[in-house]
Amino acid sequence: AKKEALEGPHYFDYYLMDRLMAQLTLEKKMIRALAARQFELHYQPKIDTATEKLTGFEALIRWNDPVQGYIPPGTFIPIAEENGFIVELGKWVLLEACRMNKRWQEAGLPKLPMSVNVSAVQFRHPHFLRTVEQVLAETELAPHFLELEVTESLLNDHVLIRDTLTALQQRGISLSVDDFGTGYSSIHYLKSLPVQVLKIDRTFVQETPCSERDNSLLRSIIQLGKSLGMTVLAEGVETKAQFEFLQQNGCDQIQGYYYSRPLNAEAVEGLLKSS
Ligand code: C2E
Ligand code: CA
Ligand code: CA
Ligand code: CA
Repeated sequence: AKKEALEGPHYFDYYLMDRLMAQLTLEKKMIRALAARQFELHYQPKIDTATEKLTGFEALIRWNDPVQGYIPPGTFIPIAEENGFIVELGKWVLLEACRMNKRWQEAGLPKLPMSVNVSAVQFRHPHFLRTVEQVLAETELAPHFLELEVTESLLNDHVLIRDTLTALQQRGISLSVDDFGTGYSSIHYLKSLPVQVLKIDRTFVQETPCSERDNSLLRSIIQLGKSLGMTVLAEGVETKAQFEFLQQNGCDQIQGYYYSRPLNAEAVEGLLKSS
């Protein structure tokens, strides 16, 4: 019994140490990766459900580590949020997304809006608005071609974020609530904050049209968004059946593997040229 008591905590310490070391390594690697230009953006098309035409893109960050290979954003974004590096990384994403969009526009390709994911930590940073303005000034992109996606839970801080949201809207930048349905935001905040697009989380689309329960949930969310005067977009649409269900139930736009995976810049140019 005495031996066990000694081994218990040791085992736990090693386990915790391993995890902390892994996280520290990733933290250091992330900072170096930005300088070494190992991050890149991919762009996922958004489609109008009625016309099946391209309406814009969402920029998604990609990290290919020379040794570890592809590291998904779901792994490193939470760490970057925890240590504050997301502020710098997020600024790079904004700059790169606006720069690419401007480049396509100058090449004579169709002009479409691009949305950028903004983490709550980044959004609440006192310099966020200034950063957005700097990026737009530097890239000379017209503000209405930039959309920002914020998560639903951020809206619960409505007192803190209202001024920033309003300032962004006044500059012509549109705002989307991302992953809607997963973050317990109140309808009151949705109604009173200047947010134009509601992005329904993929989990509500997954079981459609097989699950009657999910079908009616999805219909209700679409209705809710519409009655608030918002544009409703469903994410994670993978099948024709899902697409048709959304089309029939008045969802404005879709995004998902059914139409296209996120594409690299070259593939986007090809798509824009043919559209
Ligand atoms: P998100 O903003 O909800 O982005 C949608 C995610 O779903 C993306 O994963 C996309 O590749 C994936 N997806 C798109 N269509 C489908 C589909 O039909 N089926 C399935 N199964 N998945 C689909 P990704 O790129 O791995 O990004 C994961 C999350 O990481 C994003 O979720 C977002 O929260 C975060 N993220 C990505 N890029 C950035 C960024 O630049 N900044 C910040 N702050 N977060 C980012
Ligand atoms: Ca998003
Ligand atoms: Ca989402
Ligand atoms: Ca998500």
